[in-house]
Amino acid sequence: MDLNTIETVRSARTRADLVLAAGETFLGGGTWLFSEPQPHLTGLVDLTTMGWPAIERTSRGLSVAATCTIAELSRLPQPVFFQAASALLASFKIWNVATVGGNICRSYAAAAMVSLAVALDATALVWTADGGEYTIPVAEICTGNGTNNLADGDVVRRIDIPARALRARTGFRKIALAELGRSGAVLTGRLDSGGAVFTITAATLRPVVLRYRELPAAARLRSDAEDAPGYYTDPLGAADWRRAVSAVLLEEIRQELLPWS
Ligand SMILES: Cc1cc2nc3c(=O)[nH]c(=O)nc-3n(C[C@H](O)[C@H](O)[C@H](O)COP(=O)(O)OP(=O)(O)OC[C@H]3O[C@@H](n4cnc5c(N)ncnc54)[C@H](O)[C@@H]3O)c2cc1C
Repeated sequence: MDLNTIETVRSARTRADLVLAAGETFLGGGTWLFSEPQPHLTGLVDLTTMGWPAIERTSRGLSVAATCTIAELSRLPQPVFFQAASALLASFKIWNVATVGGNICRSYAAAAMVSLAVALDATALVWTADGGEYTIPVAEICTGNGTNNLADGDVVRRIDIPARALRARTGFRKIALAELGRSGAVLTGRLDSGGAVFTITAATLRPVVLRYRELPAAARLRSDAEDAPGYYTDPLGAADWRRAVSAVLLEEIRQELLPWS
């Protein structure tokens, strides 16, 4: 939709351009910003003109720019990238412009890029308005369905995915009440040299990460899933349904990750 209070659109090219004036906010792909009225905004600062390489391989793993699109990320070879991207209910138009950073910063419980990043133990590099920076696990950014820990003027510059997570065996499940509905629960599992990691997103208000030294027994995983905090009710699903399907689907993933299965 037209945002008819917007008077300026600045194309950011340097870090200095990222200091927001009153009434400005950052523009990623714009798929959320342009989907709702934003009467409090008078200016946009476009991050896509910063020229950040979308995906870089380093000795430590993978660096994904905040401006990398969901479509670009979905083409990486590990199945979890396409699976997570597909959890975002969206047309090809949205896939091709929505950015990883925009999805994380919008911080919906059903944020597919949060599910992905949390599944792979990704951290975010955040640039602060005063010229500083800090690193935070993506799992700790989201505080609720649409809320986060980022301060005004913070820019997510990139997320970093460690190499050991990229080498891991992974499992993934998404469930929604409607066939083409937004995710009611997204579950992942990962088995790597650091142990077994299971995550619950979309079903809980903020990501839940369950860590084990090795694959847990079915009963342990089930009780941990059922005891996890933050299951909530909204039009996309009731809290007790979210709790129940999370336990069932995590067990399916656990079975998949069993050796030789
Ligand atoms: C039909 C439809 C279906 C959708 N389905 C889903 C869904 O299933 N799950 C879901 O989570 N969302 C969904 N969305 C919402 C939205 O499209 C996505 O969250 C999308 O990934 C947002 O990315 P974007 O790059 O377009 O963000 P934008 O709209 O550009 O920005 C979103 C917010 O993040 C801020 N921002 C963007 N980048 C940064 C950055 N690097 N640093 C700091 N702040 C930043 C912006 O200022 C804005 O507040 C849907 C939207 C539509 C229209």
